[in-house]
Order: sequence, then structure tokens, then C-alpha cells
Amino acid sequence: MVRRRAGPRPGAGALIEGQHDVSPARHSTLIRNIGTLVTGDLDNPLRPADSIFIEDGLIREIGNGITRPAETVIDARGITAIPGLIDSHSHPTFGDFTPAQNALSWITHYMHGGVTASISAGELHVPGLPLPPDPTTALSLALLTKRCFDNLRPGGVKVHAGTLLLVPGLKEADFDTIAAAGIRLVKFIFYDYSLLPNGEAGRYVRWARERGIKVKIHSGGVSRSGVSQLAGVRIVKLLGPDIVGHITGGPIPMPEEEVTEIVAETDFYLEICSSGNPGMVLHLMRAVNAGNAFHRVLIGTDTPGGTGVIPRGMLREIAFLSSVAGVPPEAAIAMATGNVARAHGLSLGRLEEGKPADIVLLDRITGSVAKDGLDSFAKGDLPGISVVMIDGEIRVGGRSQQTPPPEHAAEVREGK
Ligand SMILES: [Zn+2]
Repeated sequence: MVRRRAGPRPGAGALIEGQHDVSPARHSTLIRNIGTLVTGDLDNPLRPADSIFIEDGLIREIGNGITRPAETVIDARGITAIPGLIDSHSHPTFGDFTPAQNALSWITHYMHGGVTASISAGELHVPGLPLPPDPTTALSLALLTKRCFDNLRPGGVKVHAGTLLLVPGLKEADFDTIAAAGIRLVKFIFYDYSLLPNGEAGRYVRWARERGIKVKIHSGGVSRSGVSQLAGVRIVKLLGPDIVGHITGGPIPMPEEEVTEIVAETDFYLEICSSGNPGMVLHLMRAVNAGNAFHRVLIGTDTPGGTGVIPRGMLREIAFLSSVAGVPPEAAIAMATGNVARAHGLSLGRLEEGKPADIVLLDRITGSVAKDGLDSFAKGDLPGISVVMIDGEIRVGGRSQQTPPPEHAAEVREGK
């Protein structure tokens, strides 16, 4: 097992563990002998190629039998390559710690479950945070957590934090402030919907759109905080968000007929989370199938939280959709990668030339009836992860600390 950190990093000596230098790693890696290559692109989810050449953190070439010299060579030994998973709904606070369960290193553990990026649905677990927060507190929290995670990648994971919790009393200038800070997501959860007739919430949506910021809503029943408001089809349609957060429940979904209506009558993204109602996932996927709306489906965990810390949560959700809801595994993987990136306006989530080299190699676990890593999902079995690469840096090389070992582990060695 080799854990190869890419490239010399000039000036990086002052960084403490987990902090990261934003300059791309100058390093080349060739992955060869890939058995199945899953792209993360729902329209073309499988690509007939066995090699990926990576340089300076980016995928430069995908093809068959690539022989370019590289500083690191990974022999995938016939196993499956997928894009790094993107958790569409995560609740970070500060660092690699979650006060929701007083758990340490959770982000690094998720990385061992194949997660290379996660998107915050609000840093609402900061201890003592008044709920709902006043506008100044909400704005300060978003700016501070954004700035911290700009400068910190636990386990290498790209944490997109600083999601502004929308509360009454925000001003248009506040949206300028968050846009200037690079914040790209805001969320309705604690807004008082009895105020909707005054038009303020609608202006928030407009102000966000005008600045390229996406809008998510906590949908369904009351959250663990006990102070969020119900948001069924009426509220969701009035607000017109980009993403209906955990439409299948987080933990309580809106009624079935309301889910059906959102699928059939809107074009909002539809997020499935591990915190939710599994029966509603089946209902949602029937509606998605009827409306051919697969490109709108996103997978996240909605953790940490009352559901816990679940490092294999994304893998389990993909396996559930594939084995129980009848979604082809390569399509379910796209819902956990390329779809999530597209919904949130991120250039991630695909194995494609020019994209960041965020790559997971996985295989069936010994004893599984599946024929390979991809088929593991279809059979409902957890696959074993061998390699996790983020921006071309090998973070897991050999086997994951969170899955049983893959039957065939990739071999990592020095090249050239
Ligand atoms: Zn949540």
C-alpha cells in the first residue's frame, strides 16, 4: 500500500494538517487496466476506456491502452472507476468535527466511503446557535464557515460550506456580500412562511439568481431542531427553489401526491437523502420514471445529524436505488456525482477530460454474488473501495478504512 502525496508544494510548509495549498499539484498519474469506467454523465454513463491520464490535478486523457510516462502508475487490475461522490446535503460546522454527534474525523471517514466533495445544507449544528438565527448571525456564520473551509480540506474533501440560512430581515447588500465571498448556495429552513405575502422571500430567490447563487429548501416535515416550518408543494411552488432538499424526507417527507405534483409540474432538482423515508424513495422514482426526470435526481446523506455519521451513506443510497428502485447502477452513480455538480453549478462529478481528477476505484467484496464493483450496487451489496483520488492526489491507496477490502485491490507504484 502506497500513500503517494503528489508533487512538491512550494510554500506549503506552514500549513497545518488538513489545510491546503490552492496551487494545483504538479504531478502525473496514469491509471491503467480499468475494467469498467463510469462517467457520472447520465446521458453517457459508461465509457469504453481502460486508462486515465492525470496531470496537475486534472484528467488530461481518457482512452484505451494509454502508455504515456507518468510519475505514478496505478494498475486498476480490472476493477471499476467512478467519479468521486458528491454528498448533495451535508451539515459541517468547523473542521473535521461534528457537534451533532460529538464525532471527530467524520469528513475523513466519508472520504474513505468514496466522498470527494460535499455541499453544506447549512452550518446549523454550531453549538449554541440561536434557532432561528437573526440575520446578522446567519450572515456571519455563513461567511466564517465559508472562509474556514476555503482554507481547510479534511481528508482532502472539498467542503462547499457557508450556505446562508435565509431568515427575515436580510438585505440585497447581504447577497452581494455572500456572492463576493464565493458562496453559491442559500437555504430556506427557518424562514417564517406566514410572511410570504410580503414578498421578501421571493426577492431573496431573485437576488440569489441574479448573483448565480442556488436556492435550496428544507422540504417536508419539521427538522430535528423542532423550529423549521412545514414545506409542502404549496410553499415549494411559491418559492421556486433550484433544489427541493430531501424531497423523500429529512426525516419526514410531504405526502405522496405532493411529491408527484413537484415531479410532474416543476423542473426543480429532487434530492434523496439517507435521513429520509425509504418508501417515499420508491414513490419518487416511480414519478421520476413516468416523467423521465432522472437528470433531476440528486443523492445526499443529510448528515451528520440525528441520523448519525454514516461514512458509507452515499454508497448505500446508490445501492438502494439500484437494487430496490430499479435504477441502473451507472445512472444511480450519476445521481451522486454529475447530477449533484450540475444542480449546484460545480465543475465536478464527471470522469471527463479537463475535469478535476476526483476518482474512486472499487470492486466487489469477496463473498458477494456480484460480478464486479458496478454490479455490487445492482445486487444491493456494498462495494469495497481501493483508491480515492482528489485533485490527482491519492488519499486512499490500497484499501479504504471504511469498507471491507475489495476482492481486487489496485496497485500503486512509482512510474517513469
Ligand atoms: Zn439537512
